[in-house]
Amino acid sequence: MKRFLPKSGKRRAAGARAALGYRAAMREPSDVLIIGAGHNGLACAYYLARAGLKVTVLERRHLVGGAAVTEEFAPGFRNSTASYTVSLLNPKVIADMDLHRHGLKVVLRKVDNFLPTLGPEHLLAGRGGLTRREIARHSARDAEAYDGYARSLEAVVAMLRQWILRAPPNAGGGLADVLAALRLGAGVRGLDAEQRRDLLDYFTKSAGDILDRWFETDIVKALFGFDAVVGNYASPYTPGSAYVLLHHLFGEAAGVPGAWGHAIGGMGAITQAMAKACREQGVEIVLDSPVDEILVERGRAAGAVAGGTAYRARAVAANVNPRTLFADLLPADSIPAEVSRRMAGWSAESATFRMNVALSGLPRFTSLPEPGDHLTAGIIIGPSLGYMDRAYCSARTGPWSAEPIVEMLIPSTLDDSLAPPGAHVASLFCQHFPYEVEGGWDARVDEAADHIIAHVDRYAPGFKASVVGRLALSPWHLEQRFGIPRGDIFHGKMGLDQLFSARPMLGHADYRMPLPGLYLCGSGAHPGGGVTGAPGHNAAQAILKDRRKWRRGA
Ligand SMILES: Cc1cc2nc3c(=O)[nH]c(=O)nc-3n(C[C@H](O)[C@H](O)[C@H](O)COP(=O)(O)OP(=O)(O)OC[C@H]3O[C@@H](n4cnc5c(N)ncnc54)[C@H](O)[C@@H]3O)c2cc1C
Repeated sequence: MKRFLPKSGKRRAAGARAALGYRAAMREPSDVLIIGAGHNGLACAYYLARAGLKVTVLERRHLVGGAAVTEEFAPGFRNSTASYTVSLLNPKVIADMDLHRHGLKVVLRKVDNFLPTLGPEHLLAGRGGLTRREIARHSARDAEAYDGYARSLEAVVAMLRQWILRAPPNAGGGLADVLAALRLGAGVRGLDAEQRRDLLDYFTKSAGDILDRWFETDIVKALFGFDAVVGNYASPYTPGSAYVLLHHLFGEAAGVPGAWGHAIGGMGAITQAMAKACREQGVEIVLDSPVDEILVERGRAAGAVAGGTAYRARAVAANVNPRTLFADLLPADSIPAEVSRRMAGWSAESATFRMNVALSGLPRFTSLPEPGDHLTAGIIIGPSLGYMDRAYCSARTGPWSAEPIVEMLIPSTLDDSLAPPGAHVASLFCQHFPYEVEGGWDARVDEAADHIIAHVDRYAPGFKASVVGRLALSPWHLEQRFGIPRGDIFHGKMGLDQLFSARPMLGHADYRMPLPGLYLCGSGAHPGGGVTGAPGHNAAQAILKDRRKWRRGA
């Protein structure tokens, strides 16, 4: 299978580079060169430029935004191409970058979630007590339990939220890391005994084990369990899946904690606003410039080469995922062999299939056929944890889930800038479609897309006939288009072995990579995936702390 990452295994030694005679750039060196204009690269660039540094960003695509972009996918139909819904974007980043002044407008869904079934049953979730009322419609006992469940989550999420804009304690670090470990300890000590037990559960158990303890109704467990399998190639009964559930609850939209919303104009509106904020601070963004190699001189990162041009800088921040950074961009002899060996084992796979469809009209779900606010919701086809477990197990035996879990979002119900009048666009985010597929994804992408559309049609008869255009992206296509190895939406699995102080590896969770002058500012760093801006923000803080040192050449 052809791979996006073209140079694996062909890396040159640092010393061999000089012989290649890169075009001697007459450019002034930058203070910091950022590789990738994803939203984290842009956030990092902004904070550095605001502090007075000269920053250049090199982006391989023709547009900024990485996995947060809006593109036309059929004549007259535009939509977010990869990430499609906003909640995790950090409020501090929004305020600091003044994204609203630069054009960002986020609106809330009128109903948060809608879970249809094949019959008349369904479940809605939303603000103003809707979730509790809907749960009570299914089970009085579950409605009672919901209050306790929400409280237990709240305490754990509040504690972890404090760590989103901070580097986690770094194993083997200095005084700053000792202090960070003490702060973490103090946070845990602030929890009562029951909350500490909950914390341990969420870090180690499966979401299914936790939800089975709280609730009795399948569809209620499915509402909460869905977050545990999003972008996570796992069953809701896989240990560790409870943490992925937590990760999706850190955010807020339009100031409402935990809510998910829509950026008018699609996710690209976020990154376009970020690019404007960056340019206003003097950041230079160079498009269509895939970096081939990081320059290493006298044992430190000294810039990068893109299209034969050397871009020199005093420090380099990589917005690319750790696998690309270590396997493809760094000269083979520039980092310890042990680090290369470890990063070769960096686990990446989401097994997600992303499709945009252009619709001639709105779908009519059997369980709630009339148009209404439920069509603004994240519509989750996955009515029980058992269904989600089977979706995973059938994907393991291939080629993909026989009955996939599909989240459908119809942003044109909230935003008329995306489709012609009367028509609509929908995002379909589908689990589980493994990266490795017999025959290759180029040959099988349409087969999988037809399978998904036929499956949705069972829940909303007539849906298939309403599809007038589509863009189907398998994990392999996501890799090709966005440069994310194996289509991992988080830049590396969010398992316990790749989280917090272990992201991307123990000893380097403080955004400083094992080469002086080199930093990681993308989702492969703490706190991980999602359109958060947090790794970019945190990496910028580390760079700013170090700048006196590297200005002296240390
Ligand atoms: C299909 C999908 C659905 C998702 N849904 C959601 C969602 O609804 N909500 C949410 O919050 N999150 C979602 N996510 C996750 C979220 O989009 C990502 O975690 C986030 O966008 C990553 O941002 P980043 O800036 O760290 O990296 P990226 O967005 O991956 O940016 C990295 C940038 O580096 C560039 N690059 C790569 N290699 C090179 C090179 N050699 N030279 C120069 N540039 C290079 C890339 O082109 C890209 O622009 C989704 C992700 C995917 C893929």
